[in-house]
Amino acid sequence: MSAPASPAAMSQAVTNNLEAFWMPFTANRQFKQAPRMFVAAKDMHYTTSDGRQVLDGTAGLWCCNAGHSRPKVVEAVQRQIAELDYAPAFQMGHPKAFELAARLAAMTPSPLDHVFFTNSGSESVDTALKIALAYQRAIGQGTRTRLIGRERGYHGVGFGGISVGGIVSNRKTFGTMLTGVDHMRHTHDPERNAFTRGVPESGAEYAEDLIRIIQLHDPSTIAAVIVEPVAGSTGVLIPPKGYLERLRDICTQNGILLIFDEVITGFGRLGSPFATDFFGVTPDLITTAKGLTSGVIPMGAVFCSADIYNAFMTGPEHMIELFHGYTYSAHPLACAAALATLDTYDEEGLLTRASDLAQYWEDGLHGLKDCPHVIDIRNLGLIGAVELEPIAGEPTKRAFSAFLKAYDDGLLIRTTGDIIALSPPLIISKDQIDELFEKLRAVLHAID
Ligand code: PLP
Repeated sequence: MSAPASPAAMSQAVTNNLEAFWMPFTANRQFKQAPRMFVAAKDMHYTTSDGRQVLDGTAGLWCCNAGHSRPKVVEAVQRQIAELDYAPAFQMGHPKAFELAARLAAMTPSPLDHVFFTNSGSESVDTALKIALAYQRAIGQGTRTRLIGRERGYHGVGFGGISVGGIVSNRKTFGTMLTGVDHMRHTHDPERNAFTRGVPESGAEYAEDLIRIIQLHDPSTIAAVIVEPVAGSTGVLIPPKGYLERLRDICTQNGILLIFDEVITGFGRLGSPFATDFFGVTPDLITTAKGLTSGVIPMGAVFCSADIYNAFMTGPEHMIELFHGYTYSAHPLACAAALATLDTYDEEGLLTRASDLAQYWEDGLHGLKDCPHVIDIRNLGLIGAVELEPIAGEPTKRAFSAFLKAYDDGLLIRTTGDIIALSPPLIISKDQIDELFEKLRAVLHAID
């Protein structure tokens, strides 16, 4: 086996050939003029192709909750690939898939005790929407075909996800998408709730928007409502106190399934295994991905109740009950990575660590209030957002220059519009939290 390329050599090889890779959610032409490359990662840091250490302020893309290249996970994946590299999940099984499903079912609040495996958050969302539609039909409620999302919701990039999602730029160039979809208004109120620490006290009444939609369409036409408990990708929008409870009540009263998209909030981000534990509100379905394997192997999962599962377990036993699945559902490598990740979370107490750090995180984050350009700060668990005043006529430019400057200064942040979003690995130390905010402070003072 040849020795691994040095960062410099690797960098030379790739800079000779940047054209072929059409990068996702990236300004390709701009990136390719000045590429930013990671060549290694360990714990809280990335190593760049020019040999610099970058503190990971975003857990990769909200996913590496256990930190990077954790030994137990690395070993588990290495062992698995040598032992059983692939096994189909259609009409076949392998033990780790069942072990993982049982373990996840035990982690989620009752009655969410069945697990369908996917390969991403987008697939989890499409799977949950399809299960919701098929379930309504299975229980004789086949007129319930509408799906309700929310403005500023992000549910991945499948046609289901962009249809129920509420991000204009992710929708506008892709035609009419799914029909029969409506959207509630989002819950963010900068006038009332700017610089709120944690959950805003006011705004539960935004849930009444669902009543408006139900009255417009009639409950007998609505299958499911999907929301992110905390909207992450559109800039960390924290649900007002009582809002999710009210959504739950309205859905229950009207025979509508409630889906929580926990692709970001799942696996410890708020200081509890899932947001449903944090808020004490139990949906009918939960979508997850990202932290399930700490990002190391693509995997997603949908959790649903026994009632939903059992509604499909009728008819002749030799018949397939749900005509849905992926070649890589319950992939052995992903299952091995997930089991080792769950072990790491357990051994290091990571699924509750964000609650221990939340106050420290909140104080540090809100300490940036006096920095230039800052018009709002929001936080919950180990999530944070710093919203910047946009440059007139050039939206997104200011936050993106903060992103570039932070990268140069050794800090990875994520930006959406003019909002800086932060979600470090759950292993972050208090010293690293200080370092993160010191770096960000310097960045905010340095940019125009
Ligand atoms: N749902 C939510 C809430 C997300 O934040 C994301 C990704 O950020 C997705 C779905 C899509 O996940 P993926 O990119 O794995 O398809």
